[in-house]
Formats: sequence, structure tokens, C-alpha cells
Amino acid sequence: MAVPFRRTSKTRKRMRRTHYKINANNTVTCPNCGEAILPHRVCPKCGYYKGKSVIDQKDGE
Ligand SMILES: [Zn+2]
Repeated sequence: MAVPFRRTSKTRKRMRRTHYKINANNTVTCPNCGEAILPHRVCPKCGYYKGKSVIDQKDGE
């Protein structure tokens, strides 16, 4: 098994990790209500997915 020749210094490790950052979730616009929603998910506001209602919002569910 290959083994690192030199220990990675604190500075090099920290420099590498400066590129690790969080980013905001991608959103798409719901074609039914226009809300910003996560892609490939049922719309949490109107319960629509692929052009039809999959969750009945009037039942309070
Ligand atoms: Zn919607």
C-alpha cells in the first residue's frame, strides 16, 4: 500500500479545506403555484408533481 512521503502540515491541510464550503440548495419554480421548490420533489405548498396533484391539500395532511 502506498504511504504518504511527508505528513501534511496544518497549513496545507487548512489551505485545502478552504475550498470546502456550503452552498444554497438548488431550486426550480413550481409550474403550478410558482413557488421555489427543490427539483424532483413534490411541491410542499400545492402538493403537485408532474402536472397533477399527488397530495390532497384540503384534507389537512
Ligand atoms: Zn406548487
